[in-house]
Amino acid sequence: MFKEIYKKIEEYDTIVIARHIGVDPDALASQLALRDSIKLTFPNKKVSAIGTGSAKFYSIGKLDKLEKVNNALLIVLDTPDKKRVDSVDFSQFAYMIKIDHHPFVEEFCDLEYIEDTASSTAEIIMNLIMNTDLECDKNVAETLYLGLASDSNRFLFDSCTSKTFGLISIFLEKYNFELSEVYKKLYLRPMNEVRLEGYIALNMNVTENGLGYIQITNEVLNQLEVDSASAGNMINNFNFIKEVLVWATITEDVKNDQIRVSIRSRGPEINEVAEKFNGGGHKFASGAKLKSFDDAMQLMKELDECLIEYNKTLSEEN
Ligand code: AMP
Repeated sequence: MFKEIYKKIEEYDTIVIARHIGVDPDALASQLALRDSIKLTFPNKKVSAIGTGSAKFYSIGKLDKLEKVNNALLIVLDTPDKKRVDSVDFSQFAYMIKIDHHPFVEEFCDLEYIEDTASSTAEIIMNLIMNTDLECDKNVAETLYLGLASDSNRFLFDSCTSKTFGLISIFLEKYNFELSEVYKKLYLRPMNEVRLEGYIALNMNVTENGLGYIQITNEVLNQLEVDSASAGNMINNFNFIKEVLVWATITEDVKNDQIRVSIRSRGPEINEVAEKFNGGGHKFASGAKLKSFDDAMQLMKELDECLIEYNKTLSEEN
């Protein structure tokens, strides 16, 4: 299918690359790298990467302005469902392609490449470049490595396979980018966020079934001078706690009048529970946006029940 995707890229003079709302490093890196790779290959094409940015990720690269387009190709990255595509008027496009590594939710593009076992969308873009005539340079390679390293939480997950490391090895050797530069862009953070991490560690509730959760009110966010996305962004730092198999941050987002929930698991699959609450995601990394802390506690109850089932099955097996 990579060849088909390449053919479509070749065919259209105007290409817009979009991704999901709530920008994260993999989605952003993938769209910027694909844009720059297409521009290197076809300097005369008009290619833009769009969506709402975040000051937190400015060092990864700059997005483009949303403009009206005609007879254009849309490439949606890292997004399984239409409602979560950021800032796109679908009616403007002549052809649409989806490239994603989330479990399938719905078909909304003419051509869809889904590899839900891939570590990241960045890994798929690496593969796309390797298997077509798309050009790459040091900057594109570094950006893709950044997306992959971020979404796999620095290669902690089983989705990192020999294929993943093989690709990284080829890109590192060919383009010779510096790993320390990538990690500075990804992980350098202000003291306030470290203090928030401390607050979460100190105040996390842990149930006897292995659910860890924390409610973070707007008041706490203000006291610590951090924004409502900060807790969700650091959820991966709470992996590998012996007593905790599923963990969640529940953050008040006054600006958007919602409660943001980020969930991770080292045990049971959690995406179906998140879907019941109008959220979704990967089997072991999901999220939801809710109306109230009460709804969030209902979600926690269901996650805890899920853990009871999971623990029961485990003890029956042993
Ligand atoms: P997060 O905790 O925000 O990093 O999200 C983890 C995963 O869940 C990502 O793959 C997101 O795409 C997905 N996700 C987060 N929030 C939602 C939501 N409201 N609806 C569907 N999927 C979500």
